[in-house]
Amino acid sequence: MSEKVIITVAPTGAWPSKVDNAALPLTPEEIAEDVFHCWQAGAAVAHLHMRDDQGRGTMSADKFRETVALIKAKCDIVLNLTTSGDLEATEETRMAHLVELKPELASYDCGSMNWGHNSVFHNTPQFLDKLGRVMRENDIKPEVEIFDGGMVYNSLYYLKKGILEAPIHYQFVLGAPGGLGASVPNLVFLLGLIPEGSTWSALGVGKDHLPILYAALALGGHVRVGMEDNVFYAKEVPAQSNAQFVERAVRLVKEINKTPATPADARAILGLKNH
Ligand code: ZN
Repeated sequence: MSEKVIITVAPTGAWPSKVDNAALPLTPEEIAEDVFHCWQAGAAVAHLHMRDDQGRGTMSADKFRETVALIKAKCDIVLNLTTSGDLEATEETRMAHLVELKPELASYDCGSMNWGHNSVFHNTPQFLDKLGRVMRENDIKPEVEIFDGGMVYNSLYYLKKGILEAPIHYQFVLGAPGGLGASVPNLVFLLGLIPEGSTWSALGVGKDHLPILYAALALGGHVRVGMEDNVFYAKEVPAQSNAQFVERAVRLVKEINKTPATPADARAILGLKNH
């Protein structure tokens, strides 16, 4: 059980809008400024999605390049770039920014699923094979995102095939419509499936954010906060900023007698190579 807890901030995501929360950062400048404040508050990792000029999710390498440069000029936070966020993007577009920018971490969504009861989140076997190879070739550590139990078994398959390497770092995303619900028993069930020596983090979507945050801390995991997952600080109270979520997570980590990981700690815990 790690005594240092990695707090990841996911400031934007692909879906929330300024109507959901006016403080949501959308442009490269807004995201960089927001991530800087979250780093000052104690976040060690930033999981980034980009938006186009109309505010829609995009895999534009230009937006990633611009945002990554702005953040790197301000702080040493570990960057975790998404490989999803535009359901229409081609497989090549979902990987192009990884090859160019070589982030330390990137998301590896370990299976397909129905998404939001209206579309399909495609992560075909061929794509997962290709994505895993691209990440290995570029020394990018996959953050293996798990939305359902079968995705853990998928990860074991890719581990056996040598596409993923041990120790795997998992991110359990619970409560996404179409995925496994956000409950503590579900989190415990998933933890029972992963290989010994894996590292893991968990989050609950929307109203289930806090129970999963507390459970992840109690069970020895790392945590993720931010407006990608939840725009409310409390019931019917919109968050003032992403940093406000990070500040709460820092307080909870300390209350449970652990220490928020610095970016350097996170690099050591996760064995990152691209810094
Ligand atoms: Zn994401």
